[in-house]
Amino acid sequence: MNGFNSEREGALNALLADYAAGHLNPALHSLVAAHLEMKPDNRSFVSSLEAVHARALEDVAPVELSNRQAILDRIFAAGDHQAPVALRNRSVGLPEALFSYVGRDLEDIKWRSVLPGLKEFRISEKGSDTEASLLWIRSGRRMPAHTHDGQEVTLVLKGAFSDTMGHYGRGDISIADGEIDHRPRAGESSDCICFAVTDAPVRLTGPIGRFLQRFTGH
Ligand code: ZN
Repeated sequence: MNGFNSEREGALNALLADYAAGHLNPALHSLVAAHLEMKPDNRSFVSSLEAVHARALEDVAPVELSNRQAILDRIFAAGDHQAPVALRNRSVGLPEALFSYVGRDLEDIKWRSVLPGLKEFRISEKGSDTEASLLWIRSGRRMPAHTHDGQEVTLVLKGAFSDTMGHYGRGDISIADGEIDHRPRAGESSDCICFAVTDAPVRLTGPIGRFLQRFTGH
C-alpha cells in the first residue's frame, strides 16, 4: 500500500469514527450514512466503533448493551442526531439518508448552471460555515482547478470522477484538504453526480477560477 492510499484510508477511518461517535454536523452525517447505504463493507467497522462508543457512554448513562436499539438511541441522542432512517431499496435517485437531508429527490432538484458542464444545487445550513452541495458534472468534463481552506468531503452518487488522488466510483468518498489543488474530472461513460460538503469556502486557483471568484465573492 502506498503513502497516498494509507493516507486516504486514515482520513476515511477518522470520518467514520466521528460518525459513530455522533460528532459530525448534519451534512457530513448524512453523507456518511448515504455512503454506508451504498457501500455496506464499512458497516461492520462502524458498528464496532458504535459499540466502543456505547461502552464509553455507560459511565454517564447506563444502557442495556444487549439492546442494540438502546445503544443506537443513546449514541444518536448524545450526538443530537436523528436516528438512522430505515434502509429501503431505491433503484433510482438519492440514497435514503441524503433524501432526508436534502428534502427532495434528484428528479426534483432545481440545478443552477455554474459553468458549461457543471451544475450545482446548494443546501445551506443556518448559522454554520458548512457548505453542502449536490454537483452534476457532465461526462468527461473537469471541475475548475481549486484548493480548500478546510476539508472537502465528496460522495459519488452516480458515475465516477478522478483527480490526482485517485479514481472514485459510486459510493466512494474523497477527502481533500488545503494541501490538495485539484481538477476532478468526470468519467467518460456517464455524467457524475456528487454530494460535497466543505467546512470553509473552496478557493478557485486556475485562471478561469480567479476570474469567476471576483464575481462569486469568495
Ligand atoms: Zn476539491
